Amino acid sequence: MGWRIRNGMSISIWNDCWLLGFPVRKVTSSQSTQVDLVSDLIDMDERSWNIDLINPIFNEADIESILDIHMSNSNQNDILCWKGEGSGLYTNLLTKRVSISNFCPRCNQSIEDNTHVGRDCPYARKVWRLLDIRWSDDASNLCFKEWLLRLFMTHNKGKHICIAVTIWSLWFARNRIICEHQYPLFVAIVQKCRMYLRHFSIRTHVLAWWKPPLEPTTKLNFDVCFSYAHQKSCSGFIIRDSAGFVLGSGFIHTHHITYVFMAEALVILQGVHFAKDIGITRSTLESDSKKIT
Ligand SMILES: [Zn+2]
Repeated sequence: MGWRIRNGMSISIWNDCWLLGFPVRKVTSSQSTQVDLVSDLIDMDERSWNIDLINPIFNEADIESILDIHMSNSNQNDILCWKGEGSGLYTNLLTKRVSISNFCPRCNQSIEDNTHVGRDCPYARKVWRLLDIRWSDDASNLCFKEWLLRLFMTHNKGKHICIAVTIWSLWFARNRIICEHQYPLFVAIVQKCRMYLRHFSIRTHVLAWWKPPLEPTTKLNFDVCFSYAHQKSCSGFIIRDSAGFVLGSGFIHTHHITYVFMAEALVILQGVHFAKDIGITRSTLESDSKKIT
C-alpha cells in the first residue's frame, strides 16, 4: 500500500511508504526534525518540490526518488492506494476510485496524454492487437499525429474506419473511467469496435443505394427510433439536392410516444415541418420503408 501525493498533508515523510518503486518504500535518509509531512517539501504556489529544502536533508537515492514523483496539480487530500496489482489498477481506499490527475487511470504507469491513451497504454495495445492493427517499432517513437498518419498510410482503406473507431472507443473508455469510475474490459472495447464497424458497413451499403432526386426537387431522408421503455422517439432528418449536397439535417426527441406506429407517423409530419422550416417547398420524403412525394 502507498500514497498518491496531492497536497502532502496526510503523509509522514519518515513513517509512510511514499517513494515510488516496486514495492513503494520509505525514505532511507536519517530523520531530520526540520520537516515532518510531505507537504513541508512542496512549494504549494509552484506545485513543485522545494529542491533547496530537499537537497540538504535527504541522501542521493531519496532525492532522486522524490524528484521522480510527478507533482499533481490537485491540492486535494492525498490518496491511499494499493500498488502493484496484477490488473494495473489502484484501489482508492479513501475516495473509492477517484482517478489521479495526470497519470493514466487505466495502468497508472505513465503520464496520461493522447499518445498514451491511444497507443502506448498496455490496455490500448491489447485492443489494437485484437483488432489486427499493427505498426512497426520505429512508429512507436513518433508523436501521436505522425503515428496516426503512418497508421493510415500503412493500412488499406478498409482499415481506416477501424482505426478511427478504435481511437474514438479508447478515448470514450478513458472518459468512462474518469467520469463514471467504470473500467471497461479491453475485450468489451474490441466488441464495441466490431459492432460499430458492422453498423457502419450496413449504413455504407444503404448509402450506396441512395439515389439523388431530379432537379429541382430535393430529397428528405428520415428515420426514427422508438423506446417503449422510455416512451420516447427520436426522429432524424437529412435533406439533399440533386447533386447530393446536404441542405440541412437535424433530429427531434419526442416524449410521451406510446407505440411504434405513433413514432412512425410522427416522423413523417416532423419531416415535412423540418423541410418547411428550412425553406424547402418541393421534396421527396424517403426512409428505409416509405417513399412519399
Ligand atoms: Zn495507461
